[in-house]
Amino acid sequence: MARYTDSVCKLCRRERQKLFLKGQKCYSEKCPVEIRAYPPGQHGNSRKNKVSEYGIQLREKQKIKRIYGLLETQFRIYFAIANKAKGITGENLIKLLESRLDNVLHRLGFASSRKQARQLIRHRHILVNNKLVDIPSYILKPGDSIKIKDKSKQLEAIHDSLKRVKDHTYSWLSVDKASLSGTFLQVPERVDIPLNANEQLVVELYSK
Ligand code: SF4
Repeated sequence: MARYTDSVCKLCRRERQKLFLKGQKCYSEKCPVEIRAYPPGQHGNSRKNKVSEYGIQLREKQKIKRIYGLLETQFRIYFAIANKAKGITGENLIKLLESRLDNVLHRLGFASSRKQARQLIRHRHILVNNKLVDIPSYILKPGDSIKIKDKSKQLEAIHDSLKRVKDHTYSWLSVDKASLSGTFLQVPERVDIPLNANEQLVVELYSK
């Protein structure tokens, strides 16, 4: 499967904001956005500020895609599903992305980034409803339980991540740090999802 392999920090600089793609480094002074918040490249700091309507919509789409670590084709598929479902397309899209196993693992605090969550899942450290799941895009349903496999409970990356998360919780998730497990209680409402993005701009972009 195709993957983005260049520096992920360039993606944040391109969007001129922190997308939190790299785990611990994102919370440190070493984050490149803290040092130079302008797009990468020779002319990054001198690009004109005037952006077209299309440009604004495109940047918003790129930002959401990058936050959730998706490629264009995957993102298009999610959009098509969201568009067919009942309700507001933009909200459906974000709720769907939030229901992915890699995102939930990250939100539970067991992975410092969605990228690290994908690695844990692909390396077969995660159980959903007591069954091994190695597909990061697995969509969780309300009531699904997520656990770290017994043999994987000593993994340093998981404990480092949990230390950083401290007591931050989400209303649609329950977490038990002692047993390294959690539950996806419900699909979150858009208003509850801490995502600084305007998904309506994506809807407008794809409606052209
Ligand atoms: Fe983005 Fe994190 Fe890199 Fe900062 S350290 S630029 S937030 S990926």
